[in-house]
Amino acid sequence: MVESEAHKKYEFKRTLEALRDKKGRGTELISLYIPHDKQVHEVASQLREEFGQASNIKSRVTRQNVQGAIESLLSRLKLIPKAPENGVVIFCGAVDIGANKTDMETFIIEPPEPIVSYKYHCDSSFLLTPLEDMLHEKKTYGLIVLDRREATVGLLRGKHIEALAHLTSTVPGKQRKGGQSSHRFQQLRLIAINEFYTRIGEAASEVFLGVDQKDFEGVFIGGPSPTKEEFESGEFLHHEIQKKILGLFDVAYTDESGLFELFDKLGEALQDVEVVQEKKYMERFLKELVSDTGLASYGEEQVRKNLQMGSVDILLLSDELRKARLTIKCTNCDYQEKKTITKKSGDEQYQPGNCPKCGSSLKVAESVDIVEELSTLADQMSTNTVFISSDFEEGNQLLTAFGGIGAILRYKTGI
Ligand SMILES: [Zn+2]
Repeated sequence: MVESEAHKKYEFKRTLEALRDKKGRGTELISLYIPHDKQVHEVASQLREEFGQASNIKSRVTRQNVQGAIESLLSRLKLIPKAPENGVVIFCGAVDIGANKTDMETFIIEPPEPIVSYKYHCDSSFLLTPLEDMLHEKKTYGLIVLDRREATVGLLRGKHIEALAHLTSTVPGKQRKGGQSSHRFQQLRLIAINEFYTRIGEAASEVFLGVDQKDFEGVFIGGPSPTKEEFESGEFLHHEIQKKILGLFDVAYTDESGLFELFDKLGEALQDVEVVQEKKYMERFLKELVSDTGLASYGEEQVRKNLQMGSVDILLLSDELRKARLTIKCTNCDYQEKKTITKKSGDEQYQPGNCPKCGSSLKVAESVDIVEELSTLADQMSTNTVFISSDFEEGNQLLTAFGGIGAILRYKTGI
């Protein structure tokens, strides 16, 4: 199975979610971030030092748990001669499993982006923020701030802003010099403004087209009115970039500090962009639901049938879907059934009851995450799977009103 980018991101998100739920009873959960270039033997000697420090911990239970976790980390490190390309993160500690019990658990993660700095962190929960930040970091935005005298072009990657081009104009001020006719003066001024916008457009397009377009999300423009509006409506950017303008903002500065001013104003707009593609899919889905062409389907059974028929173009899955598809078999005869349960309780606890054919006890023979099941089906039928977050209205609707599963169809099936 080819793992799509969206799928990997989803898996990573789920892993972080599972780790977020782990709690220690004291400050005894250790998070260890090792960058690629950090020597593993150095990490080991730092851990041995921490082991010594831990002897000062007053609570006997916490002390034993911390030292136990460090010992466990040290034995794991022996199996890692060198941190992989993006580094490695090891989480280890006595996790509270309820009923007054803890369980020493270890999780090893190879992150999707490089780890920047070494971290040893001991707390009542695992340190996840550096990994959570990676979920957003790849996206790149183009920034332009301009007035009629000056412009700065830059890129925003994660929270990092880089100024890449600076331009100034020779556009004359509004006051004309004596002797020039007013009409002639205005004409020259407009020509100069137009020429400056053209130069800004060329410089910005060159910078933005140089970015890998699959990570390039769009452009924000800042400046006074009506300059930025003129720049937008005059279509001075390359047509591919022009299509990606995401918003205009009032900004006072047009040098490098203007880029930071613009970034400060983006706030919510940036949040919306994160879900803009998902929003488009949901809007299409909702439109199809009420249209005569009927190219939409929803609900687990209906969508599964459509997937098996190969009629699904795009499979929409809520990324908060927490269900398992169970295969239940009789322990005595050949009776078999499939059943979907909500994962909250954990499928181990699920009691399948007795066989309707012979009355013997049933057992769970197989349990598959429903996201795995449906997206595997989708892959086999060249269906595109899209994960929809519930951070926006229509996304939340997919989860609450449509059971978290929807489909945009290739042709009408009536299912
Ligand atoms: Zn049976």
